[in-house]
This record gives sequence, structure tokens and C-alpha cells, in this order.
Amino acid sequence: MSPSGDPAAEVPSSRSGRAPIPLARPVLGEREEELVLEVLRSGMLSLGPMLGRFETDFAAALGVDDAIALSSGTAALHLGVRGLGWRAGDRVLTTPLSFVASSNALLFEGVDPVFADVDPVTLNIDPAAVEAALDERTVGLLPVHIFGYPAAMVELEAIAAQHGLGLIEDACQALGAVCSDRRQVGSRGNAATFAFYANKQMTTGEGGMLIPRDGEMADRARSERNQGRSRASGMKVMAHDRLGFNYRLTDLAAAIGIAQLERLDGLLAQRAALARAYGERLRALGASEPGEGAEDGLLLPVSDRGDERRSWFVYQVRLPAEADREAVIASLEAEGIDARPYLPCIHLYPDYRQRYGFKGGEFPNAEEACRRALALPFFPGLGEEQIERVCSALGQALELA
Ligand SMILES: *Cc1c(COP(=O)(O)O)cnc(C)c1O
Repeated sequence: MSPSGDPAAEVPSSRSGRAPIPLARPVLGEREEELVLEVLRSGMLSLGPMLGRFETDFAAALGVDDAIALSSGTAALHLGVRGLGWRAGDRVLTTPLSFVASSNALLFEGVDPVFADVDPVTLNIDPAAVEAALDERTVGLLPVHIFGYPAAMVELEAIAAQHGLGLIEDACQALGAVCSDRRQVGSRGNAATFAFYANKQMTTGEGGMLIPRDGEMADRARSERNQGRSRASGMKVMAHDRLGFNYRLTDLAAAIGIAQLERLDGLLAQRAALARAYGERLRALGASEPGEGAEDGLLLPVSDRGDERRSWFVYQVRLPAEADREAVIASLEAEGIDARPYLPCIHLYPDYRQRYGFKGGEFPNAEEACRRALALPFFPGLGEEQIERVCSALGQALELA
């Protein structure tokens, strides 16, 4: 922490002397304070009434029967994997272009992730690549709605049904996104996960949510988040029926989540407006969308196709193929602008290389996208003038302006 306690002060001040622009920042206000204070004054900091209220509110907002609040999105993925009965030696098909947690949750249970390459336009797992990678040990699919763009769920669900596979949607970056059949991610009858780290569309500081496939999965997850306690035993008897974890979400965090849900529509609309503003300015610099024919140039995130709707999470561009990304990041930093190489391919992390022998070149679409990826500052409250500053600094760094 900086001595002042101001997170913005941690970013090096810019050469130009203007205020630095961080990558992400949560929106917190009086309603969050009010509900957190209510918890503090109640003395019920865990397994109190806010937890159930958050779950009920979240399920209602999503239009599902049940939701289980957990200490993180990773915990939600882990309990989803266990709830579907995926075990050591099983194989699950997933995407290499994701945050590492989606695949790590499989490793926790000794399940082998089998990666399938992504569609170069949407950056989501390609159903044709999934079909090609199926084998007799495959028990499930774990698609990720990457950068908030909905995965091809209709096609993936058909593959799962045809081959009798389980399915978990990692919707941790995509709260509010809508698939081609106009159904929201996470509300399609599949097991699904959401996450509430401070940079997500809504936050609880740390936290996650599991949407169970059915009542049996819900009961198991509620027990496993609390050390495997049976429901009947309540808190009085220490009855641990099964192996469990401490994946409880505190009532302080749940209170923040309730307040964030109340403002979610507004937050999502603000993110979409910022993305439009970025798109217009970057197009003026010559950027285009993937699939428009200038694939080696500066690429914008793809626009919604048909009835698909992205829920804007990060604003990620792909730099021109020959650009020096480190140099671009350094020149943005000199202007006080925080930009990151978000995100690297999972199969190229040392742990995965060592376990499975990946060397690079296995998933060319994902690798090319990750190599060129750059996340720009993106959060509700980012001003027009700041977007202008980011785009002109990027244009200068790339010598486009
Ligand atoms: C954020 C995220 C998660 C879970 O993150 P936690 O930090 O554990 O809450 C999982 N998968 C993806 C794709 C994510 O972006």
C-alpha cells in the first residue's frame, strides 16, 4: 500500500504530470457502506442472513432457481468439477485462452484438461476443434465466455448431449452476456460459475457464485463449502459427512454483492458505452475488427454477432502483428497509463509445459491472439478525456497517429 492509502498513488506518476489512469477500479458507494455497516452492527459476520439474501437476489437477477455463494470464482469452479463427478484420469475439453483458474480447477481433482483451439474472431473455444479432440476418456466440456463474449453454447451443448458429456460454463468474465438463442450465460440449465474479484462487472472484493445443474449438486456444494457438514446437523453438531473445504463467503462480502446487484444494469450499460467510445476512437486510428480482412493490423474486440451480446469485462485489443508489445506498454506507462499483456495462454505456463510437454505451436489461433493481446484501462467512471488520452498514446506508440 502507498502511505496515503490511495490505490491510484501506486501507479507511477506520468511524465506529463497528469493523473495516472489505472487498468480497473470498482464502483462502490453509499449503498455498499450501508449494507456492510448493517452486517458489522449485527455481529453476524459469516453464515448470517446476508449470505442467503445475496444468493436469492443473484438467482432472481439471472432467472435461475438457485445460486450458491462461495469465497471465489475458483472455488465455484472447483465445486462444479466435483459436483459433476469428474475424477482423476478423466479428460475435459477446455480453452487455452482463459484465466488460469478455469483449467486449474480440473487439476485440483486430477482431471486432465485437454485444450482445443479458439475461433480467431470471438476468441472462444471452437466447436469444430472440440469435436476433433473428443476421445473415449472425455467426460465433459468447460467452455469460458472469454472477455465477456458468449461462447457458442448452442453448438457446444449439442456436442455434449450427443456424447453424454457434462458441461460447466465458466461465466466468470461474462455476467449479463447473452447467447445466440437469446438465453443468458449461466442460466441455460448447465452448471455455471461467476466471480466477483474487484475488476469484474460486479465485485464483493473476493467471491464467486456456482449455479448448480440440479438440487443434488446444490446440496453437495453447500455442504462442501462448509467442511462437508450435513444440512441436518446445523451448526450445533459437528457432523462432517464428506470431505469439504472452507469456501464460505463472509456476510460482509455478501452485503457488498447485494448492493452491487442493485446497480448492475447501470454498471453494464456504462461499460458498453465506454467500449463504444474506445471503438470509435481506435477506428479513427485505422483499427478494424477481426474478420474484416486486416488481420495483421490493430484489432478491436469483435462486435456482437446476430443475437449474441457481449457483457463488457476488459477492453482488449490485439496489437498489429509486428508491433513490439513491451515497448508499447512502456510508452503508455510513461504517459501514466496502465496497460497489460492480458492474458497469456494457459498451456504455455511452466506448470502446464512440465505436466503435458507443451512447447508452443499447438494452438495457433490462441497463441497468436495472446501474443498480441493488450488490455487498456476500462472501468465505469473512466472519462471521455481519459479514453482520448489512452487512444492517442496508443496511436503514437504504434506510429498510427
Ligand atoms: C476471474 C476468473 C475466474 C475466477 O476468479 P477468482 O479470482 O477465483 O474469483 C475464473 N475464470 C475466469 C475466466 C476468470 O476471469
